[in-house]
Amino acid sequence: MRERILKILRGYDLNNVKIATLGSHSALNILRGAKDEGFETICICKNAEKDVYRNFGVADRLLEVESFGELLSKEIQEFLRNENAILIPHGSFNAYIGKFDSLEVPIFGNRKLMEYETSREKQREWLRKANVRVPKIFSSPDEIDRLCIVKYQGAKGGRGYFLASSPEDFRRKAESMVKKGLVTREEIKGAEIQEYVIGASVYFSFFYSPVNQRMELIALDRRYEHVDGIGRIPAEEQLKLQLEPTYTIIGNFPLVLRESLLSQAFQVADRIFEVSKEIAYPGMVGPFCIETVFTDKAELVVFEISARIVAGTNAGIPNSPYSYILFGENMYMGRRIAREIRIAIEKGMIEELIY
Ligand code: AMP
Ligand code: AMP
Repeated sequence: MRERILKILRGYDLNNVKIATLGSHSALNILRGAKDEGFETICICKNAEKDVYRNFGVADRLLEVESFGELLSKEIQEFLRNENAILIPHGSFNAYIGKFDSLEVPIFGNRKLMEYETSREKQREWLRKANVRVPKIFSSPDEIDRLCIVKYQGAKGGRGYFLASSPEDFRRKAESMVKKGLVTREEIKGAEIQEYVIGASVYFSFFYSPVNQRMELIALDRRYEHVDGIGRIPAEEQLKLQLEPTYTIIGNFPLVLRESLLSQAFQVADRIFEVSKEIAYPGMVGPFCIETVFTDKAELVVFEISARIVAGTNAGIPNSPYSYILFGENMYMGRRIAREIRIAIEKGMIEELIY
């Protein structure tokens, strides 16, 4: 597959590369970044969202589709190749497409690692090899003996996640989630039951740069989820209402970390990076996110990795404190991606970024 993609890339006019992505998730971030670095842009979007991308003026070309799955169609792939397009993947690629085998358009980043997001078992293996602290996993609901969080495969944005503290609790809530139409029975069967790590969650967005050969911390964020609304209701009312909050993502807050905690994150990022080379050579390229909780002892526990841009970096436009410290200018993940592509083209090393 890699050889086929490289062959396509070798046919590209590198003075005329365009940046393309699906219109959703972090597309405004990616497209604005591409324009800031002097690229023309293509946005593949659905009719309902067309106006968003037109109004913000970040897409030079809008390509309308019925569904994002159409990205795999012959016509769209051919169009993108003819435009010398490099695709920037984000959460919607995983959520709506998942497998990239039939996508014969150059992608920025390592598509093999992106597929790890669709399998929690594979992710766990990656984290285990990296020797980082992870939450305990329960292989069956019957084993639940403490507070757990129930999650599904793939980039679901917390939809239908719930907490359970016993096997009975699990069954009751699972049934309720299915009834509410938040998840399917199939998803419940394939769910991962993780120990709920009590602490402060932090999402670290790193960028591994083959051009600079360094690990860059671009931004931190935390999430704003359905469950966050519960805290506004007094405990007495909460008990009466028997609330069943879920973790559906609504937005993100930018964050800065106590400085003495940064070193733990860099150590973990380096170990995850080293293992990425073993499991999917040549390993991580570009943006990735380490999703963590800091415990009461301020120890970092990793519960997930995304090997792509995450939407939390949208809160870091035009810069996060960290990207500003690193670059001394406005820098954010969308722009960081485009900068890497631009310099790699100039230096004749674009093939190192494309899979
Ligand atoms: P969307 O195109 O908004 O449906 O997003 C694609 C996938 O990414 C969905 O599974 C969303 O739940 C997830 N997603 C979107 N925005 C965010 C966000 N800010 N944080 C985490 N996940 C997200
Ligand atoms: P995710 O979609 O996996 O990024 O997680 C959705 C939400 O669940 C976020 O608010 C996370 O902070 C939280 N979360 C996920 N896994 C755990 C865990 N093992 N312990 C505590 N919180 C978690």
